[in-house]
Amino acid sequence: YGLTVTELFERAYKLNPSKEVIYDRSRRLTYQELREESIQLAASLQDLQVEKGDRVAVCLPNWHEFVVIYLALSHLGAILIPFNTRYRQEEVEYILSNSGAKLVFCTDEFGGVPHYEQFSTLLKSSKTLQQMISVRFERPGMLSYHQLLERGKHLPLTFAAIDRREDVFGILYTSGTTGRPKGVMLTHANVVHTAAITAESMRCTPDDVMLVAVPVFHVFGITPSILTNFACGGKMVLVDVFKPKDVLELIQNEGITIHHGVPTMFILELNHPAFSVYDLSSLRTGIIAAAPCPVEVVKRIRSDMGCDIVVAYGLTETSPTLTITDFNDDDRIRSETVGKVLPGAEVKIVNGQREPVAFGEVGELACRGFGVMKGYYQMPQETKAVIDDEGWLYTGDLATIDKDGYIRIVGRSKEMIIRGGYNIYPREIEEVLYKHPEVLEAAVVGLPDSVLGEITCSAVRLKSGAKVEAEELKQFIRERLADYKTPDKIVFMHDFPMTPSGKIKKMDLQQQLKIELE
Ligand code: ATP
Repeated sequence: YGLTVTELFERAYKLNPSKEVIYDRSRRLTYQELREESIQLAASLQDLQVEKGDRVAVCLPNWHEFVVIYLALSHLGAILIPFNTRYRQEEVEYILSNSGAKLVFCTDEFGGVPHYEQFSTLLKSSKTLQQMISVRFERPGMLSYHQLLERGKHLPLTFAAIDRREDVFGILYTSGTTGRPKGVMLTHANVVHTAAITAESMRCTPDDVMLVAVPVFHVFGITPSILTNFACGGKMVLVDVFKPKDVLELIQNEGITIHHGVPTMFILELNHPAFSVYDLSSLRTGIIAAAPCPVEVVKRIRSDMGCDIVVAYGLTETSPTLTITDFNDDDRIRSETVGKVLPGAEVKIVNGQREPVAFGEVGELACRGFGVMKGYYQMPQETKAVIDDEGWLYTGDLATIDKDGYIRIVGRSKEMIIRGGYNIYPREIEEVLYKHPEVLEAAVVGLPDSVLGEITCSAVRLKSGAKVEAEELKQFIRERLADYKTPDKIVFMHDFPMTPSGKIKKMDLQQQLKIELE
C-alpha cells in the first residue's frame, strides 16, 4: 500500500508490459504504450513549466486520454482537477477560480456541452488559467494533445519526488447534490491505499476485465475503477456514453468480469428488452454504490445477471470505498447492508452531540482512517466542520451498526423528512416502491406544509408501457409500512434530474415538485 500512483502503475506495467490495459471503443493500448505516452506527455508538460503542486484541469469523458493525463500528472506531482463534463459556464468558472488551475485539457463538445467555447471564454478573463490543450479536435494556434505527445518523444523527464501522505494527487469537486462544490483534496496515500484494499477485497487478478461506465472524473472512476485496475494489473473497458444495450454487448464481446455501476445503470440493463439476448457469463463481480442500492436490484443482479456484485459505501471525502460486503456474507446481509468497514479504517455512529449511540440505533456515521481526505481545498472552516481534532470525519449520512459490525445506510440527514413530528427516511419508502413490479425508479422527498411542517411526495418512473394509478401505489405502501409513511402525493415522471455520477438530484427534484404541485 505504500506506493504513489506512478509506483502502483509501474508495478502493474512490469508484470506484463505487452498486456492490453485500456480499450475505449476508439483505441486499444498496452501497459507499455500507456507508460510511454504518459511519459511523453509529462515531459512535454514539464517543458511548459508545469511543476509539482500545479493544478491541471481535465474536462474529458471516459476516453483513454484521460488515463494518460492522470498518470502524466502523477509523474510530475501536479494535481489533477477532474471536471464534470456536464458543468456549464458558471460551475466551470467557479471551479477554475477556486482551484487556480493553470492549464486545461478539454474537448470541443461533448453531450451537447460546448467545452471549447466555455473554456476559451474563461481563458480571456481568468487570472490563473494560461493555456488550453485540445483533445480529439484541432484549432489554429491551439496546442493539441497529439502535438504534446510528439514533442515529448524528444524531451527528457524528471519524475517528481512525492511525499505520499502530504502530496495531493487530485482535488475532486463533490458533485453538489447538497450545495456549492467543495474541492476534496486526496493524497497519493489516500487513493493508492483505497484502490489496493478494494482490489484485495474483490479478489481482483490480472485476468480481470473491468467495465468503466461510471464517469472517470468522479471518485468512483478515479479510485475503485482506474487505480484498482492498476492495483491488480487488469484491463479496463471505458464507456463514454452509457447505453444499456451497448454495455450488454460489450460485456459479451470483451469478456467483462467486473461491472461497477450506480443503481440506475443496473436497473436499465436488467429491464432492457434485449437483456436475455446477450451472454453475460463472464461477469464475476463489481461494485454497486454511490447511491442507495435497492435490495430488489442487488438481488436481481446476482440472480438474473449471474454477477456476484458487492455493495460498497463511501464518499468523495473517503476516497471513496469505506465499507464493502463480503462474498462470504449471507444473502440478506449482502443486499440489505453496505457490509463492514474495510480493515484499517474505523467507523462509529453518533448522535447530535457526536457521542456514540447504541447498536441498532440510528445516528450519523463518522469514520477515520487511510481514505479520509486531507481537507477541502482552501476551505479551513468547512474542513473543520466535518473533521474533528481526532481525525473523525462526519459524513452527514444516517446509519446503524450491529454487534457484528454490519452497517445499514438509512439515508442522508439532510434528506430526512419530519412529518407532523414523525421522522421519515425516504429510503424506506423507496425500497417498498422498488418491490412493485411496474416501478422502474422511485425517489421520495419532503415538501413544505403549513399543517404538518413537511409532507412526503414520491416521484415515480414506471416501466415502459406500465399503467398504475397513484392510489394503487399508496395502497401497496400502506400494506407494508406504518400509515404515516404512506406518501401524501405521488407524481409520475418520465425522467429524474440526475448528477453525472448517477445520483438523483433530490434538491432539484424537490424544487421541481414544489413548482409543479403549487
Ligand atoms: P455532495 O456531497 O456535494 O452532496 P455527492 O453526494 O454527489 O455530492 P459523493 O461523494 O459523490 O457526493 O457521494 C457520497 C454520498 O453518496 C454518501 O454520502 C451517501 O449519501 C451516498 N452513497 C454512496 N454509496 C452509498 C450506498 N451504498 N448506499 C447509500 N448511499 C450511498
